[in-house]
Amino acid sequence: MSVYLDYNATAPIDERVLDCMIDVYKNHIGNADSRTHTFGEDARDVVETARKQVSSLLGIKSDEVFFTSGATESNNIALQGLREYAQKSGKNHIITTAIEHKAVLETVKFLEKQGFDIDIVAPGLSGRIDEDDILNKVSDNTLVVSVMHVNNETGIIQPVKEIGEELKKRNVYFHVDATQSCGKLVDELRTLEYNMLSFSAHKLMGPQGIGVLVLRRKAYKLPPVNPIMFGGQQEHGIRPGTIPVALVAGCGKACELVETEYRDNNDRAIRIKSKLLEILEESGLAYHINGDSKFCLPSTLNICIEGVSSEALMISTKHLCGISNGSACTSKSYSPSYVLTAMGIPEDQIESSIRVSWGHSTDFDEVLKNFRDLLKIAGQMKS
Ligand code: PMP
Repeated sequence: MSVYLDYNATAPIDERVLDCMIDVYKNHIGNADSRTHTFGEDARDVVETARKQVSSLLGIKSDEVFFTSGATESNNIALQGLREYAQKSGKNHIITTAIEHKAVLETVKFLEKQGFDIDIVAPGLSGRIDEDDILNKVSDNTLVVSVMHVNNETGIIQPVKEIGEELKKRNVYFHVDATQSCGKLVDELRTLEYNMLSFSAHKLMGPQGIGVLVLRRKAYKLPPVNPIMFGGQQEHGIRPGTIPVALVAGCGKACELVETEYRDNNDRAIRIKSKLLEILEESGLAYHINGDSKFCLPSTLNICIEGVSSEALMISTKHLCGISNGSACTSKSYSPSYVLTAMGIPEDQIESSIRVSWGHSTDFDEVLKNFRDLLKIAGQMKS
């Protein structure tokens, strides 16, 4: 059977999360914003419990948690939502990086068309942005800086701690896309300085279609983020629309679970990575790791197997492993990864690069066996 090794695209839902959601679908049937009956109150309790579970994981207050449909929407609200404030304050400069998810990159490109001044910073071969490259661009005109915590393709952890601390001193809004780090870099996230943070529940064993936008309060005041959709007062008006109670409960449950299990998950991920690397070494294939390993999540490996087309390898090994060579959101047709391109990796190496990512339910023995078999096929394919 094929082993799923594409957790950075989406992680399988945990059964305990699913059970919790089924219970909500069956037994908590109200609209969380209904005021006229106990069904509404009951649904509201479910939502508020989930809000507390999210806030406990992140070490923030529950009134700083806003449910959205996912990180794409959260990223859009965080950035587009500042438009009115930008007009009032006269600040129209945005800084981000070339390796952000398209939900950030395309949003800032849209804002550029609206007259915003955009700076996009690229990393070097390490895959890690140099914080000074960001901070040197900050001026009195800078409205917001948006940097992801961990890149989805390379697993490289970005210097958001250093950037956040500096931006706080300079009074510039900071948005962190924590979609790949939430539930994994738990301690780091709790000590981070930021104003806005996005994530999706499905990357941390929760359901798809639900995410969070965190808006940190400063002297009780939220950042000046306005809604980008209209039609209701749910989630403080920041995200109108009926709250999907079961999805929200699933998101909360996933946060509760990773809060107690992230250390074990991390240890397992480290063991899997070191074994995969051992197998790679033993295979005799010429390979190298994309990005600086010392900054990489233990659950991601982006490798270039020299002389082996990643497209051909993925097709020939579908029966063994589900892997990828780029972000799922842009992978309908093949084009070289914009993330690896921004790192300065030559195109022939990008074409030979695959991303392998694993998580809480990856079976240790199964993954090793199938990965070994995948490498055997790669050896046969070498041009
Ligand atoms: N940001 C990052 C870093 C991601 O990896 C993803 C998902 N690939 C997203 C944002 C978007 O998440 P979603 O598709 O759940 O909205």
